[in-house]
Amino acid sequence: MAYQSINPYSNEVLKSYPDATDADLEQALAAGDKLYHQWRNDAVSSRAPYLKKVAELLRAEKQELATIMTKEMGKLISEANAEVDLCADIVDYYADHAVALLKPVPLKTDAGAAYYAKQATGVIFAVEPWNFPLYQIVRVFAPNFMVGNPMILKHASNTPGSADAFDKLVQKAGAPAGSFKNLFVNYDQVSKAIADPRVSGVALTGSERGGSSVAKEAGANLKKSTMELGGNDAFIVLNDADLDLVNKVSTQARLFNAGQVCTSSKRFIVLAEHYDEFLKNLKAGFAAVKPGDPLAKDTTLAPLSSKRAKEKLVGQVKKAVDGGANVYFGNEPIDLPGQFFPPTILTDIAKDNPIYNEEMFGPVATVYKVDNEDEAVALANDSSYGLGGSVFSKNPKHAAYISERVETGMSFVNSSWLSLPELPFGGVKNSGYGRELSDLGLNAFVNEHLVINA
Ligand code: NAP
Repeated sequence: MAYQSINPYSNEVLKSYPDATDADLEQALAAGDKLYHQWRNDAVSSRAPYLKKVAELLRAEKQELATIMTKEMGKLISEANAEVDLCADIVDYYADHAVALLKPVPLKTDAGAAYYAKQATGVIFAVEPWNFPLYQIVRVFAPNFMVGNPMILKHASNTPGSADAFDKLVQKAGAPAGSFKNLFVNYDQVSKAIADPRVSGVALTGSERGGSSVAKEAGANLKKSTMELGGNDAFIVLNDADLDLVNKVSTQARLFNAGQVCTSSKRFIVLAEHYDEFLKNLKAGFAAVKPGDPLAKDTTLAPLSSKRAKEKLVGQVKKAVDGGANVYFGNEPIDLPGQFFPPTILTDIAKDNPIYNEEMFGPVATVYKVDNEDEAVALANDSSYGLGGSVFSKNPKHAAYISERVETGMSFVNSSWLSLPELPFGGVKNSGYGRELSDLGLNAFVNEHLVINA
């Protein structure tokens, strides 16, 4: 069985889940399609009460849901609790705002009375990763539910417990049959689903490799897709940065979720005048974390999500060091049985270092010294990724100007990354295309249907 929960702190196999059959997939497609045709005739507002119930249950069952996530992918329990809160907020946001956001849009034309209606398109097939096991589901589920697009989920093979728990929660909320279905499908079944005419869109969050493969299939079948892929976000410290603020946020910007966040700050680009002090402070922040049981309140460094994730990161850091990088701090094994990787700071990464353009999904910071802002921007842009990034300056207008020069989908001025229901999330270049959340996410799989009375 491919879907298995393994606790990365204790290495204990928690549960294996049975693979979905082709009949299960067919049933989900049929139920989703039937509901889509019914939902086309229903008012958007009719769906809001179900989402309100989902939000209520998320809050009521926060502790249980957070514990499932922590046990199967290792995140700190405080972070898991915060994730459930954010999910409830996202679900509430669409329940409260979708009616207004989905109103027909009048168009100015001399040809007659014209507008476009925002209509559902059919079943959305979503492929999601393990790093935020519930949030990733909800980013697609909540907006599409309000639009009237049922959703079928293929979650990561190492977080089946979270997927199963969310499926049960949606059922408990009394949502109509077919509105959401989690399936433990394999890649062939994913292909089959994408090719099925009842599926109108494909949403994937994951790696470049997974994204490229699924996007290719979506394209071959003329299905619209959104791709939320990896990142190698820059954290730029300008000369006039508030260093106290920088010090306050830089450690968490890298170590939150054990560094396994697409929008983690991964490349710290520091103007020369602050470089030494920045490094010293980041080292102090990294040295202060306490690895341990992620369910324990005083633990501040979680294990990585799996043995495979740790092995990959160990290999990348070795490659970096073999390629000439300097280990400024860390890279000493943590003496615990779980899949821990020590907070590590790498400097002196030359352009020909093999990891210069690789995303490292764990608590490893790379720090670069630059002489001026143009160099900082050029370095930030010298990446195949374009997801997010931060710029620190006491002059927010100037920081916004520098931010806009960096080719990404999101910029955070004087803060590390953040995600809120009303803000769009997504990137450019190999970080993917399309947006989730906000009105943009709501419209991702909408048919903008022109009606003109000429
Ligand atoms: P991954 O290997 O691409 O897996 C993500 C999901 O895609 C899993 O459900 C996986 O299933 C599935 N998958 C992969 N290849 C597939 C294929 N050919 N056909 C069908 N399904 C396929 O990604 P990961 O390495 O676990 O996740 C971490 C990556 O996600 C990082 O690069 C991170 O930056 C990115 N991420 C991006 C965002 C964003 O919003 N931009 C947010 C979070 C994470 P299996 O588990 O069964 O292989």
